[in-house]
Amino acid sequence: RLQRQHPHALLCPLPAQGHVNPFLNLAVLLTSKGIAVTFICAEHRISPLRGDASLLANPLIRLLGLPERVTLGDIGIDQGFDGLIWGGEVADNMKDDFVEFVKLCHQNTAPDQNFGPPDCIIGDPFVYWTKTVASDLGLPLYTFFTSPAWALTAMIHIPILTSQGLIPLRSSAQPQLMSLPGLPSLWDTDFLHYMLDVVPAGIRRMVSNCAMVQSQSSRILLNTTYEIEAGNIDALEKEDPYKTNLKILTIGPLLSHELLDEDRAQLSVRSEYEISAARDCLEWLNTRSPASVLYVSFGSMHNPSEDEIIELAHGLEASTRAFLWVLRPPPSDTSQDASSWLSRVLPQGFQSRTHDRGFILPRWAPQILILSNPSVGGFWTHCGWNSILESICCGVPLIAYPQFAEQRHNCRMIVDQLKIAREIVKDEMKGFPERKAVERAVRSVMEGEEAQEIRRKVEEVRDTMRRAVKENGSSDRNVELIVKEIFNSFHQRLGATT
Ligand code: UDP
Repeated sequence: RLQRQHPHALLCPLPAQGHVNPFLNLAVLLTSKGIAVTFICAEHRISPLRGDASLLANPLIRLLGLPERVTLGDIGIDQGFDGLIWGGEVADNMKDDFVEFVKLCHQNTAPDQNFGPPDCIIGDPFVYWTKTVASDLGLPLYTFFTSPAWALTAMIHIPILTSQGLIPLRSSAQPQLMSLPGLPSLWDTDFLHYMLDVVPAGIRRMVSNCAMVQSQSSRILLNTTYEIEAGNIDALEKEDPYKTNLKILTIGPLLSHELLDEDRAQLSVRSEYEISAARDCLEWLNTRSPASVLYVSFGSMHNPSEDEIIELAHGLEASTRAFLWVLRPPPSDTSQDASSWLSRVLPQGFQSRTHDRGFILPRWAPQILILSNPSVGGFWTHCGWNSILESICCGVPLIAYPQFAEQRHNCRMIVDQLKIAREIVKDEMKGFPERKAVERAVRSVMEGEEAQEIRRKVEEVRDTMRRAVKENGSSDRNVELIVKEIFNSFHQRLGATT
């Protein structure tokens, strides 16, 4: 009888772009070590991946899209941060299909295939039921938290702070300072969005998510680098808040290896969709001089309000710098095409006045291709952790403009600790910056001594991160450890069945 050659891991991220991307990079990395991966997510996240030639050519990766049993409309929410809550609801409803699929894997009667019964689950804390499924099936569980250790520290303390009556944090109108082990004192408003009282559903969800990290048997994988977060990680492991021998394994940055190996490498374009989206803006970038363009993008979920767009546009215009701005109509706005939406929301005459130095991309951007283009000299980001890692690895200085989730933590980390970003100061009342503040932030990152210092720091952090993923670096050693454990589990299971 033929035996399986490869262990089989099930990877199951929250259906949100910022979770799917690092999970996918982890999947590809594991297949390069001989582990077969079934990548499981809601169908709307899987279908774009079916056009990805490199995934299709990889015999050790299998994509599985599960039906979405709830829509945005079902739970009466719209976009932005709510999209994350929706992702959680969709994930909650994937459990039965997931279990059904695992049963089918066990019934696989052709053991020479790459995908036999699973040998481990790598789950997302936002898909917390993977913990129950893993223990029901007697499978090793790895919890992959896609944000840095700063955010993990905050999340892990939510049940404790809740039982102490300290959450929601924002009980008075006055901001309060708060500290947690390993973190500097932070204003309550800089903590995880979910810890404030704005979204009660968010707090409930985070308490559930913590079940994953309170487990005795699981290890926590982090998409970060030990050297840049050693203090937080050591403090959290030492505190071990639930006395579960908390073990944190840093395995980041999980990015395409071209980005990690070479300076500003020419990356392969992933799908047809990206090629068509990439062509016009990349051709435009190729005409610009090195490090002259500011890339502006607020990730997959944040849609600025119309008043905000006007201020940001005026600020960009006053900065006189070249820019590539990803500005899409919000998903709720289905009434008009993108260009008439832009003409309506941008200040009158803005597009013609900035025509010679501005490019507006009103759709999904090929972000990695943009950041790795030599003409990009700065990234104005909403502080999503993937965007930050991508920018660092391309050596691009940042302007920090946090919105929700763990983005305020990320902002503090890149501005105060790593000093690779300049924060854009918001007007407290409006919730977005005045045009003058935009202009100042853009100038300080794109020109002058401060800009040079930030660039030097980014390159330093980039080099540290690259060393971590090289052979025998801190992240590489942790990946090897996990791979070894998965192989051991596989051999034990094979032994038990032969
Ligand atoms: N992204 C992209 N094109 C876009 C917007 C986002 O390719 O137009 C990618 C980006 O490169 C990153 C991910 O989507 O890998 C967004 O994750 P991040 O953590 O930065 O922010 P989120 O969208 O989760 O808030």
